Amino acid sequence: MLLENDLKLDFGNVLLRPKRSTAESRKDVNLWRKMKFRNSESEFYGVPIMAANMDGVGTLEMAKVLYSNGMFTCLNKPISEEDLINHFNEDSKLPGNYTAMTIGATKREEDKFANVYEKTDERVKFLCIDVANGYTEYFSHFIYGMRSTYPNLTIIAGNVVTADMTQELILNGADVVKVGIGPGSVCTTRIQTGVGYPQLSAIIECADAAHGLGAHIIGDGGCTSPGDIAKGFGGGADFMMLGGMLAGHDQGGGEIVTTQHVTSEIDGGKYNTRLFGSNDQVTRVVEERKCVKFYGMSSETANDKHFGGLRDYRAAEGKEVKMPYKGDVSNTIQDILGSLRSTCTYIGAKRLKDIPKCATFIRCSDTHNRVYE
Ligand code: 5GP
Repeated sequence: MLLENDLKLDFGNVLLRPKRSTAESRKDVNLWRKMKFRNSESEFYGVPIMAANMDGVGTLEMAKVLYSNGMFTCLNKPISEEDLINHFNEDSKLPGNYTAMTIGATKREEDKFANVYEKTDERVKFLCIDVANGYTEYFSHFIYGMRSTYPNLTIIAGNVVTADMTQELILNGADVVKVGIGPGSVCTTRIQTGVGYPQLSAIIECADAAHGLGAHIIGDGGCTSPGDIAKGFGGGADFMMLGGMLAGHDQGGGEIVTTQHVTSEIDGGKYNTRLFGSNDQVTRVVEERKCVKFYGMSSETANDKHFGGLRDYRAAEGKEVKMPYKGDVSNTIQDILGSLRSTCTYIGAKRLKDIPKCATFIRCSDTHNRVYE
């Protein structure tokens, strides 16, 4: 047995320290980045925020809105070959430059990719090879095989959380390593298995390892607010991937259900009753809210939907939640990008690319005031 005593950090353990800045306005901050990938030698130019390859997030409709904003989507694995071919064969170059087809590490999935690649005249520029546990020898061999077959394809591979395995995947042919085990909003891996790694430290350590080899990483999972995305970039992530923050929108295509909630009302306004004395006139109010079902891709719901149920040797490592329906994703995108511009002006970064250079993290015991939550 070995015990590592170094403190490892999550987004909730730190804040970014403000710094004197010459940036005049948020408007002038540049969120676009150009990256050249180590193994494919291809390039990306855009806003390095990604939709996760999950039901309700990595959809074709989501990809359209994101790529019109220069943002990226890792498409969900279950999308049919036919729909993928139509998507990548659109007239513009945007789908190929801003969306990745996603597969698991199996022969069947490899064949599905080969077919889409051929029928789209190689317009698919990015492939995301996604498994829950990127630590197996089999997975590294699979990446190696795909790199040998497709030398110009930009390969995203994961998930891992440590420097050694980040380098292993890169040396076997990955261009971009997806980092995160257990931080996700609908993930239960840490509870079910006891395995995981605090996400900010995972990003810092894997980014350092990847950058040393001229490769890139994605901070995948655990962002609950735009501030967390900024912290991930501050830790050195080249891309930040979002599941829950982009779920619940029209573009996810999920079923909208109505739920009932009990709140309290004082003088016609709704308040947190903890703030008021017991003599105030408090009325119980039942409110109806629109919600959308959102679930992890290893949850029972996902297994039922895509694999005809959970196999008898497996346990679910994801859960299902009902999240508030959030409408059009464009509003959320504006909120995220506006907040990132603001982070940049607070810490003196003129470009998103400069965030890690300008980032000083302060460890803290609490990050914000929760009285009205
Ligand atoms: P979020 O942004 O919602 O916090 O995290 C999204 C990430 O959670 C996904 O990109 C993926 O890596 C991870 N994830 C999605 N579904 C599951 C699941 O069922 N189990 C686990 N362990 N992780 C999941």
